[in-house]
Amino acid sequence: MPKILQHRNRCIGCNLCYEIWPVRWRLSRTDGKCTLVGGIEKTGVWQATVSADELPMNEQAAAACPVKIIRIVR
Ligand code: SF4
Repeated sequence: MPKILQHRNRCIGCNLCYEIWPVRWRLSRTDGKCTLVGGIEKTGVWQATVSADELPMNEQAAAACPVKIIRIVR
């Protein structure tokens, strides 16, 4: 199953990932950064396993992220 990785501490809260795929991304009211829905944190990197169906939208989010902190691992 593919994984999404996010270096959340470098997120600038532009909200583009949420606008592209709100199923998986949500802006936190607490710190203004986007959160990977269903993700868990491992050594500063948030990770979530996703179905293949979700890949295209998350790939769009990764491409749109201005600070390039979203990565997809197949
Ligand atoms: S697109 Fe990147 S920088 Fe913008 S909110 Fe999402 S993770 Fe953060």
